[in-house]
Amino acid sequence: MKKPLEYDVPDRIDLHVHSTASDGSLTPNDICRLASRLQIRVISLTDHDTVDGYYQIDAGLTSGIRIVTGVEISVNLPRDFSILGGCHILGYGIHLDDPDLNHALFTLRDTRKTRNPKIVDRLNQLGVPISMADVCRDAGDAQIGRPHIAQAMIKKGFVESIDDAFDQYLGTGKPAYVDKYRLAAETAIQLIHNAGGVPVLAHPGLLKIASFEQLAGIITGLCQIGLAGIEVFYPEHAPEDMDRFMTIARQSGLIMTGGTDFHGRLKPEIQLGVGRGDFKVPYSVYESLLKGIQLQGKQA
Ligand code: AMP
Ligand code: ZN
Ligand code: FE
Ligand code: FE
Repeated sequence: MKKPLEYDVPDRIDLHVHSTASDGSLTPNDICRLASRLQIRVISLTDHDTVDGYYQIDAGLTSGIRIVTGVEISVNLPRDFSILGGCHILGYGIHLDDPDLNHALFTLRDTRKTRNPKIVDRLNQLGVPISMADVCRDAGDAQIGRPHIAQAMIKKGFVESIDDAFDQYLGTGKPAYVDKYRLAAETAIQLIHNAGGVPVLAHPGLLKIASFEQLAGIITGLCQIGLAGIEVFYPEHAPEDMDRFMTIARQSGLIMTGGTDFHGRLKPEIQLGVGRGDFKVPYSVYESLLKGIQLQGKQA
């Protein structure tokens, strides 16, 4: 006898999803259609430095799915935390039309326009002759990022995969890497609060840090400047890391969030809602986040 569908996919949620508004390959409407088909009950579009994707969603496609507004902002941590590279802060429950937040996001997007040709120039110098036209051809009107450049490199046969492109050329510290403009973490956290949202440290397991103690110190410091949550559930986090992040969250009174960081074919190993297949974010994460957002609304 066939099992009921509810049994197959109980209460799935995905609070970290990229669309064509940044460096995902599915449009916001495609994501809603896929979420409906997979019976994912809650999603948040967390595009890099933009909320434009939300304006592209057709209302008719969202029946049966709950949508939490979101964004993923590129930030620098305070200098005394001394980590290599930037970090990402997620903002959930933000008012999409907040003028200050939108102004800051516009600046972040605008500065990418000068960074991308610099990366392409470096690739040319390294003997990888691709052009911005090659990069833009497949990206459409998306906000261009390194995964689009990686995709153009695959298409021209210079690398075999996106990971390959990052490992050889585009990753932090690699020969074609060009640093990008980021907001100060404190600024991003404040902007998210002021826009009625909950600021959350994205994928702490990806930070380039020396030890768990250093991470605990960073999180304590970020709490003092208004951080309200951490992304505990993430496909790249090992089970023991998630346990540690849960402990930190409980000790610091932080909300726990989670999601797959789905990018469609620009991160082909990760599927919506399930990551590599065995990943699940507990539904209670959505309920706690919603409480946090409501509380934030009362304080604002
Ligand atoms: P950008 O916003 O242009 O700096 O690109 C950042 C995006 O590149 C991230 O959101 C990831 O999707 C992707 N990315 C970063 N590092 C890697 C890596 N080592 N391998 C594959 N993708 C990566
Ligand atoms: Zn991305
Ligand atoms: Fe991220
Ligand atoms: Fe992301």
